[in-house]
Amino acid sequence: MLTIRNLHASVEDTEIIRGLDLEVGAGEVHAIMGPNGAGKSTLARVLAGHEDYRVTEGEIRFLGRDLLAMNVEARAREGIFLSFQQPVEIPGVNTAQFMLAAVNAIRAHRGLEPLDGRGFFALAREKLALVGMDPSFLKRNLNEGFSGGEKKRNEIFQMAMLEPRLAVLDETDSGLDVDALRVIARGVESLRAPERSMLVITHHQKLLDHLVPDRVHVLRDGRIVASGGPELARRIDAEGYGWIEEA
Ligand code: ADP
Ligand code: MG
Repeated sequence: MLTIRNLHASVEDTEIIRGLDLEVGAGEVHAIMGPNGAGKSTLARVLAGHEDYRVTEGEIRFLGRDLLAMNVEARAREGIFLSFQQPVEIPGVNTAQFMLAAVNAIRAHRGLEPLDGRGFFALAREKLALVGMDPSFLKRNLNEGFSGGEKKRNEIFQMAMLEPRLAVLDETDSGLDVDALRVIARGVESLRAPERSMLVITHHQKLLDHLVPDRVHVLRDGRIVASGGPELARRIDAEGYGWIEEA
């Protein structure tokens, strides 16, 4: 699904990603942990194609193709999805209209008929229920006045609607109370599929209790410094990151 080799990426002439290697197979869920400022969100933005981030070295292959040769729209159509750490409020853009346009853009790319209003609302209601959101959210402007938890649920609602091949979730669990965390984790877990991979950026073992990763990686100073199974996340939860440096 995803192969990253010797990736170097800079923002404003500062190198943030410094020789990162990562391989994610189809159907796998990989957790990315690491201290603040390690470059986790930068990696997420580079994958999505954010234009402020310049790749200076290395390669990224997605489904066997050169991801870096694709612009941000092409990546989205091919099935890359990014759930933002801090979702943006977009006043004046109705949530239902935004989602309908996004879903139909992806459907067109996949050679499917566009959804009409009735088909869209039926699908949207089903996916909203997955993350415990009320259908009334569809009438509101995108993220406008949503609480922190509602914004995060809305991100996972979008993921459920768009059925990505590779979903990158950037600290979707931050700012959630324990009940919301469980709902989100179970929602994401239900989206696990053989043809879908996920990169889950998180600080918290709690999310990984519900969404058990195939692999756990620690990102520090722009590279992966440790990889392991779920036990690695449990050890970090108990002991922090210091022991990795010493080892
Ligand atoms: P993480 O998500 O692991 O906490 P980030 O990827 O957000 O870390 O940030 C890594 C480093 O890159 C930080 O030092 C941050 O200040 C810097 N950085 C990220 N984006 C920008 C930007 N647009 N301009 C300047 N510095 C940035
Ligand atoms: Mg971050």
